[in-house]
Amino acid sequence: VRTDVEPDGPKVFEPAMARHSVERLTLASRMRQAIEGGELDMHFQPIVDARTGAVCKLEALARWPQADGSFIPPDVFIPLCEETGLIVPLGQWVIETAARARVALVSHGFELPIAINISALQFQRADVAAQLQATARAYGLAPDALQVELTESSLMDRQHAVPTLKKLGIEGIHVSLDDFGTGFSNMAYLRDLPIDALKIDRSFIVDIDADERAASICRSMIALARTLGMTVVAEGVERERQYAWLRENGCDQLQGYYFAVPMPMAVLAAHLRDRAAPFQTAPTV
Ligand code: C2E
Ligand code: MG
Ligand code: MG
Ligand code: MG
Repeated sequence: VRTDVEPDGPKVFEPAMARHSVERLTLASRMRQAIEGGELDMHFQPIVDARTGAVCKLEALARWPQADGSFIPPDVFIPLCEETGLIVPLGQWVIETAARARVALVSHGFELPIAINISALQFQRADVAAQLQATARAYGLAPDALQVELTESSLMDRQHAVPTLKKLGIEGIHVSLDDFGTGFSNMAYLRDLPIDALKIDRSFIVDIDADERAASICRSMIALARTLGMTVVAEGVERERQYAWLRENGCDQLQGYYFAVPMPMAVLAAHLRDRAAPFQTAPTV
């Protein structure tokens, strides 16, 4: 976004916009190739139990590696995939990659559920419940092996959201509401829809140990989740003091750089093994 004022106004802005859209088209066609060519990576970030510190779940986060060793973050390529319809094949890749990761994890002795992110448009366009069910069957996974994270915007189209969520619920697939608190404010859906967990957005966690207003909002969100019988998860926990605050205020699960960064499967397996014995999850038979 330009902050300077150009002397000839829109005339300067137009070519910049054109360039921008050409760049996006180029990026979109590279993205298509990356999906089809299996060039994308998946990283996994542990989510820990606030009381015990044990890893209780993983979140799958997509990465697009570049030739120079850097990667394009999902905040850039997910909107691009939404604009171009690539979100459906991307979503299928994400589900299958998570399924394979789950199989690999179990073989390492860690029977942890893996949560995948579903964007609002993806939730609308693809039959996520059917995709998950078919994939789980193909890989022989338990229904709770893969979970989904939706944002509040996915729930705005109730005609679609209600039956889809019910279908997910019937199949035993856990649903978390991601970035909770940043979406629209009509919360009636929380009363009616089968949602298992609320993930408090990182923006509320940032100042939790310093700003009394942020702390009050978090306390209310935790109370709300409690009242509705939902699990409450905090994202973006970076410091010991945030951890202490959240533990003391009854947050169930925690995710953030303080505990672990997102990492590829090979590193994750070693990370899970290296954690102190009481923090390790025992494989359930
Ligand atoms: P999200 O689902 O809210 O994921 C959490 C984001 O916060 C991730 O960013 C994660 O790397 C980052 N994070 C975790 N702990 C911390 C922390 O302590 N501090 C800070 N500053 N950040 C932390 P990431 O991986 O860049 O993903 C961004 C967003 O892109 C995700 O937000 C999610 O909405 C979306 N996304 C990621 N992977 C996928 C995917 O496979 N499919 C879809 N549809 N969306 C995805
Ligand atoms: Mg998420
Ligand atoms: Mg989130
Ligand atoms: Mg987010």
